[in-house]
Amino acid sequence: MSTVQVIALGGVGEIGKNCTVVREGDDLVVIDCGLTFPTEEMPGIDVVIPDFTYLIENRDKLRGIFITHAHEDHVGALPYLLPHVSCPVYCTELTAALVRGRLEERLRNSKFDMRVFKHGDRIECGSMSVEPVRITHSIPESSCMAVRTSLGIVFFTGDFKFDFTPVDNRLANITRIGELGQEGVIALLSDTTNVERPGWGPSERDVKEGLRKVMAEASGRVLLTTFASNIHRMQQFFEVAAEFGRKVATVGRRMSENVDASERMNYMRLPKGTRVDLPDLVQYADSEVAILTTGSQGEPMSALVQMSKGEYGRLQIKPGDTLIYSARPIPGNEAAIWRTVNRLFEQGCRVIYESANPIHVSGHAYQEELKMMINLTRPYYLVPVHGEPRHQFMYKQIGIEMGYPEHRIFTLQDGIPLDMDETSAYFGEPVPCGRVLVDTSGTPGVSDDVLRDRHNVAKEGIVVITVVVDVEQGEIVGDPVMQARGFHGPEGVLDQALEHLIDGLGALSREERKDPGRVRHDSQDIVRRMLQKRASSRPLVLATVVEV
Ligand SMILES: [Zn+2]
Ligand SMILES: [Zn+2]
Repeated sequence: MSTVQVIALGGVGEIGKNCTVVREGDDLVVIDCGLTFPTEEMPGIDVVIPDFTYLIENRDKLRGIFITHAHEDHVGALPYLLPHVSCPVYCTELTAALVRGRLEERLRNSKFDMRVFKHGDRIECGSMSVEPVRITHSIPESSCMAVRTSLGIVFFTGDFKFDFTPVDNRLANITRIGELGQEGVIALLSDTTNVERPGWGPSERDVKEGLRKVMAEASGRVLLTTFASNIHRMQQFFEVAAEFGRKVATVGRRMSENVDASERMNYMRLPKGTRVDLPDLVQYADSEVAILTTGSQGEPMSALVQMSKGEYGRLQIKPGDTLIYSARPIPGNEAAIWRTVNRLFEQGCRVIYESANPIHVSGHAYQEELKMMINLTRPYYLVPVHGEPRHQFMYKQIGIEMGYPEHRIFTLQDGIPLDMDETSAYFGEPVPCGRVLVDTSGTPGVSDDVLRDRHNVAKEGIVVITVVVDVEQGEIVGDPVMQARGFHGPEGVLDQALEHLIDGLGALSREERKDPGRVRHDSQDIVRRMLQKRASSRPLVLATVVEV
């Protein structure tokens, strides 16, 4: 009896680091390979990626990695996986154009095999095959993935919304999704990001009216910040600017590169003569100028954040400017975004972040759209993904409302396979999984211990002790030296701690003092306890024993 396994290595119970495996026998197919961003509890961490141990252990069985679209939570971890595996990566032409450069930059010498598919292609993967189907989202050329197994189709919605008036007029292939439903979908893995929102989500096209309104009211320059991958938002900004006789310049490397690539490949059609280079803006009056900029998440190195600090050499904010904040903060970035917005106001720039006419719409399906996807695919099992536990829970309620019995709705956890056979489905034996932290050095694997130490140092400072020991005699030589950085406590508490340490070391037996490990451990322990008691503080305490 054949078994098909669906194993999430990331992306369930959370929004981010999407990576899911479908396994049948000795064939593995991977859908997406994304990263997530650190929380404030992860000082010094750049990105968080899935633990790829399971994929690396099974690398000889990997038949392909399929990318649904070019957002970081779906592609961002590729540079960390590809050096360890050798299977092809499949994606659309646009996704390849947006990520290839960055991959080459990160992977330097190692080669990777990237293959472009068209929607409707059928890619054989051992005993399985994968068919990408066109869907709409906040980036063009997004795909659902239909993975055909011997039990039926495992259908991944990818990130999606049903946008019936997409900016590029390329509609979701609803007919094909329905046909696949007829063929037989055993499990539907659905995006649940917006399951809390009732009704139908607005179309990307609705943003145009919001942009028009701001543009009509602004007398000075108009800036807009959004994700550099939101090509349709950028396209609409160009169109509205052209209507108002404004020229548009792009600021920020990623923004400029993406406009170049999308224009070259015809994913973006700019009104003639509207785009100008940044230095040429000086030829125009403020009322004839519009600017597209990176920095919607308050990223410290982004053009917008630097402009807000007056530290961007190529462009300065001035009174009378208007900035349209056309994005939604990724949780964790709110503080950095508000700091940026406040600095812009201080410089006389009006920031529009909310408006009666939308200046941003979500790329994710609302409740009725989620129901429509269930209706089209008519899956046997429902599997909510791309959501936190509350989203998974609400999606389950929707499934129940639609007549699904509870035992056919599975709330996945990372690393716990959903095993399906001809007659049933159940949770299987866990596989290695977890989060891997990558710090600014770019080397994955920052451990929880390292993180805890960083956190302690950042919060309570560090105390360093040096003890000199004559290990032959078992004598402490001179007094230990204590230094502190970033530590704050009652006056004299460090001197008291030092005295306490001298007493403590004196109380050790001669034999105990001959053991440097014991001296180090006890020194740390004595000082840590003392500071906790007298200063209610828990700095990182580090002792070094010098043997003479
Ligand atoms: Zn996503
Ligand atoms: Zn997305």
